[in-house]
Amino acid sequence: MSTQTQTPTRARRVTLADLERTGKLDDFQPGHTPSHSALIRDTLPEREAAAEATCASCGHVGLGFRAFTRRDGSSWRAYAMCPHCQHAEGF
Ligand SMILES: [Zn+2]
Repeated sequence: MSTQTQTPTRARRVTLADLERTGKLDDFQPGHTPSHSALIRDTLPEREAAAEATCASCGHVGLGFRAFTRRDGSSWRAYAMCPHCQHAEGF
């Protein structure tokens, strides 16, 4: 019987800068869509999910939250951001 502990497979780290460089955030700018009131911004389920999430890259628990809105305001995206390694993951 092996006594080795299995190392969990980690996702390759992707930062917001990587997403911008590869065009994933083209037409998007940081910030909430105008339709999000301050209350909505503070209580978004994505924000709560990020706060309880584990970083897929380094395993840090408790991720930050960033919103990006399309320049024409037609849609928005939520990203969980790891405060430890800066890994960013879209919802
Ligand atoms: Zn991380």
